[in-house]
Amino acid sequence: MIKKIKGTMDILPNETPLFRYIEGIMREEAEKYGYGEIRTPTFENTELFVRGVGDTTDVVQKEMYTFADRDENRSISLRPEGTASVARAIIENGKCSDPMPLKYYYIISCFRHEKPQAGRSREFFQFGTEMFGSDSPAADATAIALAASVLNRLGLKNVKLHLNSIGCKECRPAYRSELVKYFASHEDKLCDTCRERLQKNPLRLLDCKNPDCAEIAKGAPKTTEHLCESCSSKFEMLKAALDAMKIDYVVDSNIVRGLDYYTGAVFEFIAEGIGAQSTVCGGGRYDGLVESLGGPALSGIGFGMGITRLILALRELGLDKIDEARPVLYVAALGDRALIKSLEITERLRKAGKYAECDTVGRSLKAQMKYANKIGAQYTLIIGDSEIDTGKAQLKNMEDGSQTEVELDSFTI
Ligand code: ATP
Ligand code: MG
Repeated sequence: MIKKIKGTMDILPNETPLFRYIEGIMREEAEKYGYGEIRTPTFENTELFVRGVGDTTDVVQKEMYTFADRDENRSISLRPEGTASVARAIIENGKCSDPMPLKYYYIISCFRHEKPQAGRSREFFQFGTEMFGSDSPAADATAIALAASVLNRLGLKNVKLHLNSIGCKECRPAYRSELVKYFASHEDKLCDTCRERLQKNPLRLLDCKNPDCAEIAKGAPKTTEHLCESCSSKFEMLKAALDAMKIDYVVDSNIVRGLDYYTGAVFEFIAEGIGAQSTVCGGGRYDGLVESLGGPALSGIGFGMGITRLILALRELGLDKIDEARPVLYVAALGDRALIKSLEITERLRKAGKYAECDTVGRSLKAQMKYANKIGAQYTLIIGDSEIDTGKAQLKNMEDGSQTEVELDSFTI
């Protein structure tokens, strides 16, 4: 038997209602905040992610699904995230001279070759938003408010906003060398990956999941104590805006984000009680990205929210039960004439917008009634030759057992 690839998932009709419910809230909230939906290709030139996500990141170095294209001598990758593609798309489609800001959202699958575990898969589903063309903290506050309102509407009271600022190209270099100095003095206790990070991407030392590294990280110099005046006043303004918008947060100096392009405000929404993969949403500012992809110097702020992690968080609170659709009517038929009539009736009701079912597998009348019960039909209608001859039948309300006579060719429910 051929099995699915490790780290991918089949989402069956008993689970899709929950996905659709979550995605519906995401769409509605995004549109209330003025974001329009963008759809970009599932695969891109590898170079886009190398430049856009950063060649020092785990995502690019270890996790990308990269392959040679069949007919051209070029390297292609499945998208590991959405931001680089959206940045490319706005440049390529000439949007950079539109009135600012540009606001886009997407619900996509992303692909990363990671170790599959609860909340971490190789194809995963993400709600992402990007806002370009504003470096104002008002833009940061709007993006965060959108993420918070999705989580709020889902009822996720177990999720907390962790906020930090990692500075800009003015203040980060000095901070970076402080950080390297600090971690170098503990180098013998760091994990192998962190020893590498010390050379290539020292900020990432702050969010290593290894317990020894995490313990050392607790004593590290804090980004927020090394911000330049501009970054510092923007961060204060963002906090004041969140206070005014009644969005709770904690300042958490260990939030640095995994991707190279982040600058300024960064944030994660972290769920309690769902195990190690607890970041349901991560985002921040990426002011250098558009320019690094060959566009103008447009700043940006966005986030990615993992849908399967949201489901884990919902499950933790018992909020993951969405009623499956129930048919309003099941027509049980005895004999071929009745079977054809049942198809005619169900089709008429479906055209009127109702969910109606009849037998399509050749069950006995008794088995049809049992099946109608199992799928939770609200009403049933039993028809045989005599009902077809009179044009009338008994419509049974399955909840209270009451019956009403109806005209087969004209009744509605
Ligand atoms: P993590 O630190 O958990 O690996 P990340 O920083 O790599 O996350 P992002 O690139 O910011 O994650 O992606 C945004 C969101 O997408 C994450 O906060 C998470 O909810 C979700 N996500 C990321 N990778 C996966 C994955 N492999 N499987 C499921 N969800 C994921
Ligand atoms: Mg990751």
